[in-house]
Amino acid sequence: MKNNETKKIMVVNCGSSSLKFRLIEMPSEKVIIKGLFESISEKNTPDNFTSKYKIGDYSCNAPIRSHTEAVQILLDYLMKNKIISSYSEIDGVGHRVVQGGKYFSKAEVVDEYVKGKIKELIPLAPLHNKAHLDGIEAFESIGTKLTNVVVFDTAFHQTMEPDTYMYALPYEWYEKYGIRKYGAHGTSHKYVANKCAEVMGRPVEELKIITCHIGNGASISAVKGGKCIDTSMGLTPLEGIPMGTRSGNIDPTVLEFMNSVDPEKYTVQELLRILNKESGYLGVSQLSHDSRTIEENLDKNPLCNLALDIQYKRIADYIGSYYVHMGGADAIVFTAGIGENSSRLRREVLKRVQVLGVELDDEVNDKVRGEIAEITKPSSKIKAFLIPTEEELMIARDVYEIITK
Ligand code: AMP
Repeated sequence: MKNNETKKIMVVNCGSSSLKFRLIEMPSEKVIIKGLFESISEKNTPDNFTSKYKIGDYSCNAPIRSHTEAVQILLDYLMKNKIISSYSEIDGVGHRVVQGGKYFSKAEVVDEYVKGKIKELIPLAPLHNKAHLDGIEAFESIGTKLTNVVVFDTAFHQTMEPDTYMYALPYEWYEKYGIRKYGAHGTSHKYVANKCAEVMGRPVEELKIITCHIGNGASISAVKGGKCIDTSMGLTPLEGIPMGTRSGNIDPTVLEFMNSVDPEKYTVQELLRILNKESGYLGVSQLSHDSRTIEENLDKNPLCNLALDIQYKRIADYIGSYYVHMGGADAIVFTAGIGENSSRLRREVLKRVQVLGVELDDEVNDKVRGEIAEITKPSSKIKAFLIPTEEELMIARDVYEIITK
């Protein structure tokens, strides 16, 4: 097969009750159609349901009980609207998988071994990996032979050294249960680091880049010579900086303390739910997990200020730490929902790391949003960039490479 052959690739991101998709034509990288299924649940019945979906401009409320049903609705829509004339016109499906553990450092074609490993890793990402398997099986069940490929969020971080990915915990926890740092958002960190090198007109192999993926989930990576050498998320996405609803790093003793306050209310499971779903911006501000709402209420609510200040400070701490770990930095990149849209976050973070030699161009920073831009002055020792992430595109590129190989 030639490597410029046109292929249609479906990129899928399954959450526990959602399925996001994007059908992309390759190698032109043109998005044919995209959409989202929400509130998928076995509890939905024809008379009582919360599920809905959007495919392109078309929206519909409908009872959707499983990812398989969502895939069926999606494919029927594509056929009915002549976006494809048969299922086999989809050449490959790329599934985003949150946890690949120590097993996967690159994209893989799905087979029984791969599925077995994703299943084995469910305890490390209970909601996500189970949903990814549902998504894979949904596409396997449509009865046509298409190539399913998995692209792991953890793969890019597999180049970390043991002194970085190991926790100082009993070693047998690592040996027996795989307890270590795996990281997340790897596809995004890899994409923006490479794009940054392209924008700087220098080989990524020569550069030290700190990538800040700041969305509802948020993580920071140190990318040296194109390889990840450190990242802020850990065994799970809970570690690192505070996020929309996640606490980021805390002293684990807080759990024992709160459990002793009310053992029945604050079970370990409940405490972890609070750390994951009711902390971060939401926990501190008592108002919202959404950065837009927080920023809009800064004048009225001091807790909104505090929620952001805690996060900015921690982001600056990571940047400082990665600067030391890499022996300097050439660039700092901001990406994802908040990194791309909030000039305030970029300004406040860069202000806190000014000492490293970052000179922000306020005028440019205030103006740009959702587009590639250099936001530091030409004299700045460390350059800072806004680079929109393209995780779906990276997944489509991996699938395309595999199926045309
Ligand atoms: P993500 O998880 O990458 O989709 O990012 C979600 C976060 O990005 C939410 O906190 C949003 O408030 C934030 N976000 C998205 N669009 C904007 C915007 N235009 N201005 C400020 N924040 C935004």
